[in-house]
Amino acid sequence: MSTEDNLRPESLIVSAGRPPHTVGAAVNVSVSFTSTYVAPDGIGYGRSGNDTWTALESAISSLEGGKTLLFSSGMAAIAAVFALLPDHSIIVASRNGYTGTMYRLKRLENERTCEVRYVDVANTDEVIEAMRGANFLWMESPTNPALEVADLPVIIAAAKKMGVGVGVDNTFATGLLQQPLSMGADISMNSVTKFISGHSDLIMGSLSVTDDALLSRLIMERKQGGAIPGAMEVWLALRGIRTLDVRLERAQKNALELATRLSNHPAVENVRYPGLATDPFHARAASFMKGFGAIISFEVKGGAAAADHACASSRLITHATSLGGVETLWERRHRWEGESSFIPENLIRLAVGIENIEDLWADIDQALRK
Ligand SMILES: *Cc1c(COP(=O)(O)O)cnc(C)c1O
Repeated sequence: MSTEDNLRPESLIVSAGRPPHTVGAAVNVSVSFTSTYVAPDGIGYGRSGNDTWTALESAISSLEGGKTLLFSSGMAAIAAVFALLPDHSIIVASRNGYTGTMYRLKRLENERTCEVRYVDVANTDEVIEAMRGANFLWMESPTNPALEVADLPVIIAAAKKMGVGVGVDNTFATGLLQQPLSMGADISMNSVTKFISGHSDLIMGSLSVTDDALLSRLIMERKQGGAIPGAMEVWLALRGIRTLDVRLERAQKNALELATRLSNHPAVENVRYPGLATDPFHARAASFMKGFGAIISFEVKGGAAAADHACASSRLITHATSLGGVETLWERRHRWEGESSFIPENLIRLAVGIENIEDLWADIDQALRK
């Protein structure tokens, strides 16, 4: 392939970052195990770059647009973004979201004298109102684990008009289902740990940006902060992203079916999945997302104890935190101390994998009936 410009995302994640098609060449990049490079030219030192990183960075860029930098974790990527914000910044952020992010926002308030305006991201007017006089908006959509969908195209366009910088945590959707950069966001972040690597075997993060000046600042932040991934983990994540489309396709199909069946289960009170036609976010998600993702949250009758009991009773499904792997995981979110008060005590987050749908349903059903 001489040019990749006209390829679709499903092809690009398979073809990006491979060595050129020259006779006798390897099909895959190698794991570049080196801490330093021969002087005087080139990468220089292993904290600045690595050929295996470059391959995965170009594969993620092919989905997100712009240019991508890998970090040692999703939280390291978020910390690098927040490190660029000046003291006294006014930040608009979701009132509930990934717990690690919520902790970091609190630290910006306490240690860096920032003002964080917590909003309901589902309420577009409220978000836009809060952006008056603000300099940065950090948003997750769909949110973890409430599964609210923000009206990203409208909110990002408003932010641009108001001169507010925008970062989007794209972990639940990935660049395959939505591209915040193409809507005008400054930064799209992924926890590569989740869907992109897809096998629950590594921790990694990424930031994708379009502006070269911002890219340079983030390169400096990564180099000086030192939050870089190991070459072996990057190679595994590169192997993982090759199958992202087929994994997500199956997981989304499973998720829609499970969400539908859960909605009719006598032990279940409420199901949150934007793919359900009855979900309050269905129309909004359908208007700009290519799919509804593979995470379901639901509330069970009988409170926290019943939810804990169900999670502990599964056989096929693993009772564990995290999401985006080939195997289905579930947990009651409030088993974590830092979970938001906006999340019900009896809410279970179900991260749907690629197993057989009837096996998954049989396991959920028996666990809920216990
Ligand atoms: C897991 C997660 C993170 C943090 O990523 P790590 O790779 O675990 O550091 C951030 N945001 C969301 C939405 C996540 O699910």
